[in-house]
Amino acid sequence: MSKDTETSRAIERITQKLGSDAVETSPEIRTCYGFDATNLKSLPAAVVFPRTVEAVRAVVLICDEENVKLIVRGAGTGFAGGTVPLGNELVMSTERLNRIRAIDRERRVAIVEAGVVNGRLQGEVARYGLMFPPDPSSMEVATIGGNVAQDAGGPRAVKYGVTRDYVLGVEAVTYNGKLIECGFTSTDKKVWNPLRSLLTGSEGTLMIMTAFVLKLLPLPEAFCTALAFFDKTMAAAEAVSRILDSGIIPAAVELMDSSTIACVKSFIDLDIPEESGCSLLLETDGTVNEARESMETIARVLEESGAIQIRVASGEKERQEIWLMRRSISPSLAKIAPAKLNEDVCVPRSRLPELVEGVERLAGKYGLQVPTFGHAGDGNLHINVMIDRRNRDQLKRAEALVEELFALTLRLEGTISGEHGIGIAKRRYLKGQLGEHLYNYERLVKQAFDPKTMFNPGKVIET
Ligand SMILES: Cc1cc2nc3c(=O)[nH]c(=O)nc-3n(C[C@H](O)[C@H](O)[C@H](O)COP(=O)(O)OP(=O)(O)OC[C@H]3O[C@@H](n4cnc5c(N)ncnc54)[C@H](O)[C@@H]3O)c2cc1C
Repeated sequence: MSKDTETSRAIERITQKLGSDAVETSPEIRTCYGFDATNLKSLPAAVVFPRTVEAVRAVVLICDEENVKLIVRGAGTGFAGGTVPLGNELVMSTERLNRIRAIDRERRVAIVEAGVVNGRLQGEVARYGLMFPPDPSSMEVATIGGNVAQDAGGPRAVKYGVTRDYVLGVEAVTYNGKLIECGFTSTDKKVWNPLRSLLTGSEGTLMIMTAFVLKLLPLPEAFCTALAFFDKTMAAAEAVSRILDSGIIPAAVELMDSSTIACVKSFIDLDIPEESGCSLLLETDGTVNEARESMETIARVLEESGAIQIRVASGEKERQEIWLMRRSISPSLAKIAPAKLNEDVCVPRSRLPELVEGVERLAGKYGLQVPTFGHAGDGNLHINVMIDRRNRDQLKRAEALVEELFALTLRLEGTISGEHGIGIAKRRYLKGQLGEHLYNYERLVKQAFDPKTMFNPGKVIET
């Protein structure tokens, strides 16, 4: 039977089972579900919208029987091409699988379905005086399913860790339509349970995760936020190391280089010192005294490190203004070029100055604009090589720059992706990072969980 016939039969059977409002085949809707934040795009055969876990199981069973491939999609904010079809796959959107099943204040856990948007969960748990620490900058749109599948980080990771540290349990559907629950109540967490860890960060390649038990923490009583300016990126990178060596653990340490600041300045109204070549956004939290005293220590270290100006927010309004600057980076970059190769390399923070120096050298060597910003406290920088894909010479130079950047990162004992994942964007570099032996183990894991390569074919591991 031809591939097209199998796909058409699968779509027909899913429509019969879930109802016509759960399946979209129009080119307009398929276009909207065929891209992610990389700007790579391709049309899926259809988009399905299950509302329940039973509906997810039914779709998977039909795809298994009809030999059809499936891509699960949260909000499509991924930066690795993970939700972009490579063939005639179906896309399963989790947007209707969006119930917060429970928030247990006493046990400090939330049980949420995969399509719940991170920002919505943050708002709901805050009403109980709690927080879910993982806070990717895309949190107003990105889903918890996408966060777990990518093991998302965010500004708070420097103090609180990444998504993996908050996943107590996973409910998921296997390739043959079975429902599994691993570590699904918080009391299970001491039982030997490697599956939960394997699924976190699995980028949609092993199972479809339908719900999670998430650990929550008490919401800090107070925050203290500051913006510091330096004349050079190197000086700021060195200050980051000194701050973390001072014994203080800030709740955020975000770096923005001069090129990034210039972009943001063209996008929102900003008062930036003339001689500023880099800025650091710093936040502390805790009780009112803890937050203030920690920031006082940080301010001393910043001064000793040569900061040319330090502005501490005097209240929530100013704090939000400072964060607006950080949150405006991604939209403002779109003003300088239609596309970017967005790399999120991560190095031990003591090697951050060498990374920053290397990026500046590579930008000069290849004659490209490379705004650099990110979670410097983790050694995780977003290095954006700005391009117009229609300019073939520029694209070639950008790709050569990225090759050199990855080689530099590995020399600095770093990793080619601190949080965005591998998907298709970094697939060809994965073997270089892991080495042949470990790469083959990863391939075995994929084969064991997804023997027919139904889920997200061609992503992460070459199949
Ligand atoms: C402006 C902007 C800022 C960002 N900031 C950050 C940041 O600070 N930190 C960070 O880590 N990332 C960041 N990202 C990247 C992205 O938002 C995260 O990777 C996020 O976790 C993706 O969530 P999503 O719902 O959009 O997932 P999608 O893009 O829809 O999917 C991502 C991957 O997860 C898989 N997946 C999705 N749902 C499931 C599921 N239920 N079961 C199994 N697999 C699933 C998909 O198949 C795909 O491979 C940013 C992106 C943008 C555009």
